Amino acid sequence: MASDEGITLQKIVRKPQKAGQGYKFGVFGGIHGDEPAGVLAALELSRWAAEMLEELSDFELHFFPVCNPTGYRRGTRYNQNGLDLNREFWSGSSQPEVLYLERELTAERYDGIIALHSDDECDGCYGFVSGAVLSEHLLRPALAAAREHLPCCPQEIIDGFSADQGIIREGYAGILSGPPSQRERPLEIVFETPALAPLAQQVEATVAAVKRMLNEYRQLQAYAANL
Ligand SMILES: [Zn+2]
Repeated sequence: MASDEGITLQKIVRKPQKAGQGYKFGVFGGIHGDEPAGVLAALELSRWAAEMLEELSDFELHFFPVCNPTGYRRGTRYNQNGLDLNREFWSGSSQPEVLYLERELTAERYDGIIALHSDDECDGCYGFVSGAVLSEHLLRPALAAAREHLPCCPQEIIDGFSADQGIIREGYAGILSGPPSQRERPLEIVFETPALAPLAQQVEATVAAVKRMLNEYRQLQAYAANL
């Protein structure tokens, strides 16, 4: 928990079996306060992680379900100061939510950063990849897993960016991402659900996608270790 100017941001930590040995992932929901699917999915994933002690013993998972608590309370994209927090990172922002999350991102040095969003202008799930090249190798199977609940966005242009089967390799400046000072870039994946689809299906699609990402990451690490 962090409190700053009256804003409280919840952090749920699921430790690995051997301290300091797990793949460390951060899952961030609710950066935009009017996108509840990511918040609910992050909470559901944190409950799942608490139960899967054996199965997830090689992971350290940190969940930040509501990164924009004032926007979430009001049901707005922006925070209480009228700012889109997902354009404020690593640019000298003075927003308390951003300062707290930047401190966390710097201290934790995540192997993977998964940000959960929804988009009311798309017909299906899609995502952005940046950071380490492996990011794309996690998003593609994640979109396949999500397809059991919601289709993949078929558009070739999404949000003004060119997309390849729901995968966008560009992005906005200032999004929640690893610190520029981190030499080994983390995997960075933004997962988006269609905001106009039923909420329960968006949550299910997001939960399935994140579980698949973690599983794929484990498999890729095992493969790399055997090379
Ligand atoms: Zn969003």
